[in-house]
Amino acid sequence: MDNSCKFQFLGGVEEVGRLAMVLETRDVKLLFEYGMSPGKPPTYPLPAPPVDLILLTHAHLDHSGMIPWLFSKSDQNILTTKITGEITDLLHKDTISIAKSEGYAIPYSKSDIKEAKASIIPIELSEKRIIGDAIDVICHSAGHIPGSVMFELVGDKKILFTGDFNVVDTRIAKKCKPVNCDILFLEGTYAGRDHPKKREELEKELIDKIDEVVKRGGVAVLPAFAVSRSQEIAMILRNSGFNIWFDGMGRKVARIFLRYPRYLRSSEELKKAFNKLNLVHSDQGRRLALKSEVIITSSGMMDGGPVLNYMNKLKNDRKSAVLLTGYQVENSNARLLVNKGKLNFYGVLEKVECEVQYFDLSAHAGHSELIDFAKKCNSEKIILMHSDNREALIEPLKEFAEVYTPKTGEVVEL
Ligand SMILES: [Zn+2]
Ligand SMILES: [Zn+2]
Repeated sequence: MDNSCKFQFLGGVEEVGRLAMVLETRDVKLLFEYGMSPGKPPTYPLPAPPVDLILLTHAHLDHSGMIPWLFSKSDQNILTTKITGEITDLLHKDTISIAKSEGYAIPYSKSDIKEAKASIIPIELSEKRIIGDAIDVICHSAGHIPGSVMFELVGDKKILFTGDFNVVDTRIAKKCKPVNCDILFLEGTYAGRDHPKKREELEKELIDKIDEVVKRGGVAVLPAFAVSRSQEIAMILRNSGFNIWFDGMGRKVARIFLRYPRYLRSSEELKKAFNKLNLVHSDQGRRLALKSEVIITSSGMMDGGPVLNYMNKLKNDRKSAVLLTGYQVENSNARLLVNKGKLNFYGVLEKVECEVQYFDLSAHAGHSELIDFAKKCNSEKIILMHSDNREALIEPLKEFAEVYTPKTGEVVEL
């Protein structure tokens, strides 16, 4: 048997987007994630070869977005949690709708999506599976969003692939724990940046800011990812007493979350939060939302979704505010708003007069937390991935491990 371990990133190693990696060990070929960067236009990883198994850590499009494309080429199986499978299916269908409405090439068909969904082998947290002749896969919670996992592979060496992870509790998910391993594939979304404040402090500041906006007669718009962030914000604002409207796909996602309470920190809390919201179902709802106090809506990075309709109406209102809470990828509309005070409305760049503020309610480990996590994993080798600032982590990690920063397409043998 061949005992070497060889890997190649097909994308997403030097950027926070389109993650995909092929790993070959003990005669099995595995594909970790097959994402897309949902920009304008979307970008994809390099084509993937047929593999023995696809491993998917969580539903976010930068990890899952191109999985149906694999099924247009050959039949394969996907190992992931059931909840991730359901949310991913929703996002894949939405990807086709977005491509159609924006006029981009559609990367896969509805039947590819169906096949991908039917090819899921569900795995539960802490469950162990055997791949090939002699590799165990163990699934650990990643604390990033409900259903997100890290994969541990045990063969000659112990390998951990983190996907996206968080080391603090949020309203919606419980934090993850380090896993002892020899080889660590570490995400670095927040490389070089620490989360400056405690979660509770940030949540209070967010509520205080909304209060200020409402008192001066404005509307607080909270753009949020449909998966996890929008539900989390609803939970944060549950007892605030504001008149809140909720728009976008987050509604459907919440329904899926509630079917899998074991992946939530508290399904009761989520249920109570949703009972207090006004849900937008129609244009009439949108009009009412514009007269309310708070609008929670997708997309989180403001590149599409109902948020642009609301902003089109509110862009000249200095009393209103856009309160961002998520990571803003380079070249995203949200990043443009933070840096330049402008938004791209379907190709037309316009100035936004509203107040803009960012609250770092991240679902990722911050810089020091990444280092601390890696140290506690005790690995000999660390491969940095999913980061536009890997340089910031090299020196601190070198103190206790061998650090790799491979490029897209490069084949590395360990
Ligand atoms: Zn993610
Ligand atoms: Zn990610």
